Amino acid sequence: MTLKNKTAIVTGSTSGIGLAIARAFAAEGANIVINGLGDADAIEAERVAIEREFNVPCIYVRADMMRGEEITGMVAAASERFGGCDILVNNAGIQFVSPIDAFPDDKWEAVIRINLVAAFYSIKAALPHMKSRGWGRIVNVASAHALVASPYKSAYVAAKHGIAGLTKTVALEVAEAGITVNAIAPGYVWTPLVERQIPDTMAARSLTREQVIQDVLLEAQPTKRFVTVEQVAALAVYLCSEAAASVTGTVMPIDGGWTAH
Ligand code: NAD
Repeated sequence: MTLKNKTAIVTGSTSGIGLAIARAFAAEGANIVINGLGDADAIEAERVAIEREFNVPCIYVRADMMRGEEITGMVAAASERFGGCDILVNNAGIQFVSPIDAFPDDKWEAVIRINLVAAFYSIKAALPHMKSRGWGRIVNVASAHALVASPYKSAYVAAKHGIAGLTKTVALEVAEAGITVNAIAPGYVWTPLVERQIPDTMAARSLTREQVIQDVLLEAQPTKRFVTVEQVAALAVYLCSEAAASVTGTVMPIDGGWTAH
């Protein structure tokens, strides 16, 4: 129970990596704020499951990461319910795959807003709570694409390189305040985000589904295995622990060796 009495906001936690992180924090005793879009009944079922399985309070705040004022409102709602915000995980993200000369303007802007700009608003809103307690943990879920590029993912790679820079900058600004700021850089993790990009990658590269999985996705990953959401969540728990108090400003790969190339 390393996170007992801590309040954790995890954006984009109605699915995939974010949901696994929220559940792992709940297992460590934290109060949980889940966020994300999707079917209301399915989200309520996940929220109730967290409360029942881990015996911690869990609220859902439906803030759209495209909108700064809703992100600020999410942090305010968390603080109102739990009296503060100790841990912030910026995890919500979307992907769009297209050659840059055909990249739709609205998709480019949405990828940048959700994957990068949203973290600016949430960090800005959460930091005063962390500073007032002299303790805080910010974990940004970046990607191997924060360190290396792949073709047809210009918006995503730009946003993830951006979040790496934001992570390092904020880490320096709050280093003396008991607050650490780190990014996790996963390789391919089998989640709906990866599943959804397969058809577009098939079209962009004229490949079959199996070819995309083997020759595009797992080709980059020397282990030839997908990273699991539980492995990413365990790293997030470590980064929020006391043992990680001196770990700050890092962009930490968990990518089966991808970025060792
Ligand atoms: P996912 O599609 O399973 O989950 C994405 C979450 O973000 C969902 O909860 C969704 O509701 C939420 N979301 C999307 N748009 C939103 C918006 N406008 N407002 C609020 N919430 C919104 O994806 P995932 O694979 O779990 O991805 C989570 C994070 O991990 C993303 O930042 C992604 O870039 C990163 N990542 C994923 C992989 C991978 O292989 N799956 C690899 C590296 C990094």
